[in-house]
This record gives sequence, C-alpha cells and structure tokens, in this order.
Amino acid sequence: MTRFSFSLDATDGAARTGVISTPRGDIRTPAFMPVGTAATVKAMMPESVRATGADILLGNTYHLMLRPGAERIAGLGGLHRFMNWDRPILTDSGGFQVMSLAELRKLTEKGVTFRSHIDGSKHELTPERSMEIQKLLGSDIVMCFDECPALPADDARVAESMRLSMRWAERSKQAFGDRPGHALFGIMQGGVTQHLREESAEALKAIGFDGYAVGGLAVGEGQEAMFGVLDYAPGMLPQDKPRYLMGVGKPDDIVGAVKRGIDMMDCVLPSRSGRTGQAWTRRGQVNIKNARHADDPRPLDEHCSCPACRGYSRAYLHHVFRAQEMISGMLLTWHNLHYYQEIMQGMRDAIAEGRFADWEAEFHRQREMGDIEKL
Ligand SMILES: [Zn+2]
Repeated sequence: MTRFSFSLDATDGAARTGVISTPRGDIRTPAFMPVGTAATVKAMMPESVRATGADILLGNTYHLMLRPGAERIAGLGGLHRFMNWDRPILTDSGGFQVMSLAELRKLTEKGVTFRSHIDGSKHELTPERSMEIQKLLGSDIVMCFDECPALPADDARVAESMRLSMRWAERSKQAFGDRPGHALFGIMQGGVTQHLREESAEALKAIGFDGYAVGGLAVGEGQEAMFGVLDYAPGMLPQDKPRYLMGVGKPDDIVGAVKRGIDMMDCVLPSRSGRTGQAWTRRGQVNIKNARHADDPRPLDEHCSCPACRGYSRAYLHHVFRAQEMISGMLLTWHNLHYYQEIMQGMRDAIAEGRFADWEAEFHRQREMGDIEKL
C-alpha cells in the first residue's frame, strides 16, 4: 500500500515543486484544490473537474456533517464513492466555518457548540469529533481542528486563540491515531505577528504532522499583509513536508504564495465567480454580463483550450448569463478552473526549469495589458 509521502523535486528561490503521493493518486505541487463544499464542485461533473487538471478536491466538514451527515456518507461507502471522485480529497476541520457563525456559537476549551445555519439544530464540534467526521468521510488529508480569530484582533487575543489551537492540534493528533495512507495536517496560527507564528510553528513541529497549513490568512488582512506573513512563515515549517495556504485566492495571490514557498491552496473563487458571470483570464478579470460582449464573436481567451473558449463566443456567454441559463455557470466555472490549473502547471514547469522569475514577470505583464478589447 502506498503510504502518504511528499517528494520535493526542485526549488527556485523559495518556490518549490514536487509530488504528494497517496493511495488514491499523486498530487503535483504547487497544487490548486477546487472546493466541493457539499460533495460537488458546483456546476461541474467530477470528470470535468479532473479534465481541468485537478489532482485533489477539498470537501467541507461543516457542511457535510449537517447535510447529509457524516454517518450517512460513511454508510454509503464514503465521500469518494458518494460524489464519484476517486482521487484524493482534503477535508477542512469545520473550525473556520463554525467560527464564522459568530453569535450562533459558543467556544470553550473542549470545543464549539453551534446552531446549524440550515435548520437551527444544535451541534458540537471538538477536535475528537472533527477527526471522527473526517474519518467517516474517508478524507485522504485531514485537517486539525482549530480556531481562527477574525482580524483585526489585538496580539493578546490572537495569542490566546493560537495557543488554544495548539492544544487542539495535540488532541487532533491523539484522536487521529495511526492511519497509514492518510495524512493529518497541523495548522499554524498567530495572525500577522511574527513571534506568534514562530511559537505556533514550534508547537506544531513538536507534535509532528504529515503536512502544515498556514491558517488565519485571507480573512480580510489584505494581500500586502498576507505576503508579509508569507515572507517568513513557510520558512518556519519543515522543508520536507507540504505547506498549505488555506482559502487563497485570486490568481495573483496564488502566484505570490507559491513564490514564497507554498505548495497547496484552495479557494471557492474560480467556481463562485463562474456562477456570477466573472471570468479569470491571462488578461485579468472579465465581467461577461457587460454589454460590450453582446456582439463579440471572439472567445473569452483565444489561447485557452477549455470547452468554453474552444466552442463559444463572448456573445454567447453573455447571452446565456443574461438569460440565466444553467450552461452559463457550467462554462464559466470550467474556464475558471481550467485557467487556475494552467497557472499551476505553468508554475510547476517554471520552477522545475529554474525560470520562475521570468514566468512571474510574464504573468504580470499579460495582466497589466488588460482584457483583449483594449488591444
Ligand atoms: Zn477557457
């Protein structure tokens, strides 16, 4: 049986490329993980998600525990079988979503009690229950249960929260136990304060994990502050384990994170944008609902090989969005996910060949040119 492992194949500056091996297949890094919140990447068939180049999906513990329920999914053969995706799945711990319920939740040393956003029913999440749910789902990469304070928060509050998350990380590790072929990732906290990040990294390394996430970013601190943390945080984590930046981001966030030593990312942005008429291309963001596309026979991006760009005009994409046809979200989501995976492949190749700086300069140059109409 293949065990979970990570091989770091090349570095270029702080940027890294490698492969995470799991019994369900390899994950090429840097990797972008599309988000399948409710056991589906919205508007996409699993084979379509795979066709964009995704090696791994993310599932949300919070949503799946409430509906349809982790025990039910386990009874139906686990999340992979349930959603017809046989490749690796990473599940979050539920912590982040529960914390964002604000006044609907109660936090103690033991864990969090909260009311469902669906029907108001009362639930409890603890490190132990989060590990149990992620095991029931059959997740390949399990995340520690943690708390993430909303920013801005003062250092005392960030420190208190981080230390609670470190105690929960220890409990998560105990509850996870020994599961060959499955991985448990620790989550670094500490906000935008360097010595708290250091303290968190040391605590996690002392426990020992299969991979390490940089948590508590992309929560409203802005790109400059996020990059500020990423200038030092990845270097505090073990060189030989994958590093995951949670909930990021826009294409330029992703490139900036990889440049600073991040190996994995996830974000709802490409799929969510696809449903609201927003496309991401090499030339930046395109709003397909804009009237200027109504008579435009050109594809969204003439260099893109996705089905939306190969078969359809901007005029058609504009029309189906305005007419609220389902194919609108399907095509734009496919394009966006394809574009994100193309960025990842471009970075993997560039890092392997030692030309990441040139690749990055070209990435920014094309974006600064703006959408094709401005040519
Ligand atoms: Zn396309």
